[in-house]
Amino acid sequence: MKPITTLLKQGVVLGDGGYLIELERRGYVDSGSGREKVGTGKGSGQFTPEVAIENPDALRELHREFLKAGSQVLQALTFFGTREKLTRAGYGEQTESINAAAVKLAKEVAGEQALVAGSVSRTQLVEREGMGALDKARDHIAEQIRLLKDAGVDFLILETFFHLAEMKHALQCAAAAGLPTVATMSFRPLISQCTDGHSPAECARVMADLGAIAVGANCEQEPTRMLPLLRAMRVATKVPIAAQPAAFRTTDDCHCFTRQPAFPDDLETIQVSRKEFFEFGKQLKVEGIGYVGGCCGCNPAYIRALARGIAEPN
Ligand SMILES: [Zn+2]
Repeated sequence: MKPITTLLKQGVVLGDGGYLIELERRGYVDSGSGREKVGTGKGSGQFTPEVAIENPDALRELHREFLKAGSQVLQALTFFGTREKLTRAGYGEQTESINAAAVKLAKEVAGEQALVAGSVSRTQLVEREGMGALDKARDHIAEQIRLLKDAGVDFLILETFFHLAEMKHALQCAAAAGLPTVATMSFRPLISQCTDGHSPAECARVMADLGAIAVGANCEQEPTRMLPLLRAMRVATKVPIAAQPAAFRTTDDCHCFTRQPAFPDDLETIQVSRKEFFEFGKQLKVEGIGYVGGCCGCNPAYIRALARGIAEPN
């Protein structure tokens, strides 16, 4: 496989979809439903990636399905895999083994057919303890990036960051590790600004200035809601735009699905169809989007739809 920087120059790069919600639906990931609200950090086992060591066959199969659907990049399931998050889920001592196993699985399935990206997200320390916890957050992110590099990922995807301040630290850790990095923020409850008050355009500029090879947004919004946000980023930077929308319908009052009453046990009632991803795929070239995949709710059927949309002569 050519490196990600080369692929981005050649056209739209198709990534994969969302692993944790799909594996939760299949019974291999704990949503934490009934015990806590996602993001509060209390309790244990909310959407953490221990499936990589506990049910590796389930994860391997989902990787295979994304590859068959056309993904040029498989993300190792290392989302929420910092020692901080895993410790709260009761898996702190397995931090090394979970990250290593997740990368190994993805690389086995990818072979020569796809690149493997290490997925790194926010720690949730900032949400719980405030901006004073940023240094601690950086240390946890730096540790995970070291583990991913040692395991042999081709590049990093920093995703689902709510605070630009934490993303900046993560990008500095990624640069120190010398790995190419795609960086995407998640905007909630509205798409007008991230949690620490920066507009999408400002986020795009800052992330590109810190060395990200593509910048954009992931999770929280369906493609139609996310598109204006991506356009605002497009005009603010010259690097390719990356988009990994969710497959859940949001509302004019609340632009994020994780704050809809349907989250997490009623999500089937707000699922958008794969057709919306097909239509999104058709628009990518015109919209200047260089990297596309799906986030929560986006299973291999949605990636197939994106692939068809991208291939459509339009
Ligand atoms: Zn998501």
